[in-house]
Amino acid sequence: MKTNNAKAYAAHSSTTSLTFTPIQRREPGAHDVEMEILYCGVCHSDIHTARSEWGPAKYPCVPGHEIVGRVTRVGAGVTKFKVGDTSAVGCMVDSCRTCPSCQQGLENYCTNGATYTYNSLDGHLNTHTLGGYSSSIVVDEAFVLRVPAGLDLASAAPLLCAGITTYSPLRHWKVGPGMKVGIVGLGGLGHMGVKFARAFGAHVVLFTTSPKKVADGLKLGANEVVVSTDAEAMKQHRSSFDFILDCVSAQHDINAYLQLIKLNGTLTLVGAPEHPLPVSAFSLLGQRRSFAGSGIGSIAETQEMLDFCAEHGITSEIEMIRMDQINEAWERMIKQDVHYRFVIDMATLQE
Ligand code: NAP
Ligand code: ZN
Ligand code: ZN
Repeated sequence: MKTNNAKAYAAHSSTTSLTFTPIQRREPGAHDVEMEILYCGVCHSDIHTARSEWGPAKYPCVPGHEIVGRVTRVGAGVTKFKVGDTSAVGCMVDSCRTCPSCQQGLENYCTNGATYTYNSLDGHLNTHTLGGYSSSIVVDEAFVLRVPAGLDLASAAPLLCAGITTYSPLRHWKVGPGMKVGIVGLGGLGHMGVKFARAFGAHVVLFTTSPKKVADGLKLGANEVVVSTDAEAMKQHRSSFDFILDCVSAQHDINAYLQLIKLNGTLTLVGAPEHPLPVSAFSLLGQRRSFAGSGIGSIAETQEMLDFCAEHGITSEIEMIRMDQINEAWERMIKQDVHYRFVIDMATLQE
């Protein structure tokens, strides 16, 4: 029998606003951690999913995968957490655990498809997973992260997706001193990309379509900021980048950035626009360029990133909102008016 024991905000179709919706969470099993959600960051993936831009979503859709909270109950077999601990959940709540990727500790590349925090099949309740725009969540401890002491909990929430999604490719492509690195788009992901690339010692160039974000880009750590609509400024950077991370949520000309990559360099997409991005062969073959993608990061790398952030004093620049401001926040994100991550104060979630 279905018993609703948690509160949430859900989309009930691709075209309707999010509204208050009671939901069911499972009773914690032997290896489960139950947490009260304190803060949840707002990712553009929440919008893409709830509006069925990436394919038909399952409704009701409760988005949210930048979750920070406090442990309220643990199963008998839980060893990593106890009641009262600060805990966090990102984009995944499980994976097959047996495929070659899972065996290497790369659950984010599970070949059978990881169980995402929302809009995935939920074998426990025979329904689909429901995310962090809610009062509580129950997750296997193997997919629960520790928030190191010293990090502000609200501004740490966006690390669980925007943080790891930019940290992981910058590490994989070994961004460091002596490299010229571009970050495209100053939103949630982009502003974390700027902070990490700078912390890793690269020369960082931010590309933005918003002239009013130039000063913030420099403050966040970019060595240079280019307004990408300025064709002359773009031309000056031709074939000069070791690595570019594209964090744009909407349609844009990818060739304009491929042309900025130098011999043997790489442009990696983390932004996931609704429609395909056409690539000209000549953007790639001239300088033996690579065009790649990267999806979030593993659980172990997410913990490594959180620990790195605590050590280096890195968190997200946030604008705290009440739960009932979520629909307005989404509209502002679509208009590129985000500085630079909305975080929901979950104490404000009420009917
Ligand atoms: P966001 O906060 O809304 O930021 C997106 C930024 O893209 C905007 O601030 C804007 O930067 C730029 N932009 C937006 N519309 C544009 C347009 N029409 N033309 C050019 N630039 C535009 O989004 P986010 O949460 O950072 O997410 C970014 C993308 O990454 C989304 O597609 C999201 O789904 C995806 N994502 C992927 C992963 C993964 O695992 N790969 C994980 C999380 C999110 P400027 O104003 O500076 O131009
Ligand atoms: Zn996300
Ligand atoms: Zn797997």
